Amino acid sequence: MKWISDLIDFILPRHCAVCGEVLSRSEQEICLNCLLALPLIDDAHCTEIEKLFWGIVPVERAASYFYYRKGSPYNNLLHHLKYKNRPQIGVMLAKNAATELLTKGFFNGVELILPLPLSKKKERSRGYNQCDYIAEGLSQVTGIPVVRGCITRTKANETQTHKNRQERWKNVEGIFAVSNPDAVCGKHVLLIDDVLTTGATISDCARALVRAGCRVTIFTLAYSHSF
Ligand SMILES: [Zn+2]
Repeated sequence: MKWISDLIDFILPRHCAVCGEVLSRSEQEICLNCLLALPLIDDAHCTEIEKLFWGIVPVERAASYFYYRKGSPYNNLLHHLKYKNRPQIGVMLAKNAATELLTKGFFNGVELILPLPLSKKKERSRGYNQCDYIAEGLSQVTGIPVVRGCITRTKANETQTHKNRQERWKNVEGIFAVSNPDAVCGKHVLLIDDVLTTGATISDCARALVRAGCRVTIFTLAYSHSF
């Protein structure tokens, strides 16, 4: 059925989510050149990411896959993933990340994957939660099941963009609750978000999970250290 996919590509060409070039049949979401130059986070910086949570919430491990830097064309990945209806970018990148992290023992002991929920209003207007797709990609590689609906967002936080570091932490206090503690109590869970900035939002969720009796490991697709 190669001719069918060739024909579809001819009529509706697919474009690289980073540089915008037309993708070849074998390329998914990102062209090979952009994929090879993806600004990956090395092991030393993963330690830096874990340090973000020290003294805030006890986490087992934390990692992100690539850098989100101001002005970088790679930021287009998150833009397409979140706002341009291309959630498959999340699956594809998470599969690549999981393949890397698996060799480092990052998933050892993890029993469940929990995508960070969006507010109901935001998920309705977007039509999907990008974190579900990231979780799906990780699950496809690791075989660890994804569980949704255990965490609820008790209030929608206001935008964080124009807030300083202290205001960001204040703004997200108590926005998550574990709605189904029986499903997660005593489990080692992997909490997923798309991008890590100060860590305020995901820390609030991790704290709720720890209170419910979980051990928590954190994964985000991107890490922004430009604040
Ligand atoms: Zn490209």
